[in-house]
Amino acid sequence: MSELVAGFLRFRQSAYPDRALLFQRLAHTQSPRALFITCSDSRVVPELLTQQEPGSLFVIRNAGNIVPSYGPEPGGVSASIEYAIAVLGVHEVIICGHSDCGAMGAIAHHHDLSGLPAVSGWLRHADAANVINDSHHHDTDRERVAALVRENVIAQLANLRTHPLVALALNQNRLRVHCWVYDIESGQIDALDGSSGEFVSLSEHSDVTALRGGQDTS
Ligand SMILES: [Zn+2]
Repeated sequence: MSELVAGFLRFRQSAYPDRALLFQRLAHTQSPRALFITCSDSRVVPELLTQQEPGSLFVIRNAGNIVPSYGPEPGGVSASIEYAIAVLGVHEVIICGHSDCGAMGAIAHHHDLSGLPAVSGWLRHADAANVINDSHHHDTDRERVAALVRENVIAQLANLRTHPLVALALNQNRLRVHCWVYDIESGQIDALDGSSGEFVSLSEHSDVTALRGGQDTS
């Protein structure tokens, strides 16, 4: 804990003064560039890997970068999505999975989650990805998890579309959705190409086609 407090003191000494004007500007308003939905994993740091300052990303994080489908009892993820689109007017959404994801590993390896009922229930939102992934052949366990991470961001994109305000914004072409997979070891990102439905290196295809309303990635 002392390391965290020491970090805060360093923030007060240098990081904060360096951004004093920015924080002044942000004190009473925010206008983030994007809604960034990713895993809670400590190794994924959205602002670091996109080199964004405070105020740029509206972030939703949870185990497995899950977006529950919209339903009669919407929860915290739905509320944050609604707020980002309706109030903040965000035009870009990124769903970002990552390599070595513990949540996806647990599903891919059919771990016994009976001792973790909340996790088990939560990861049911990835059932579609799991069923599709299980129908494919994978040479290694590692490949099985990597493939599930990709299937999962596509499944969560499908779930995202069930949110009425997202569906409307996509229909009116004022929202673009990006599916990314971040590789922790290499620092690379693969992005889902909206025109081919394939994942491509974002480094090599920085102009990769985003997913707009009416496009199907299946
Ligand atoms: Zn994860």
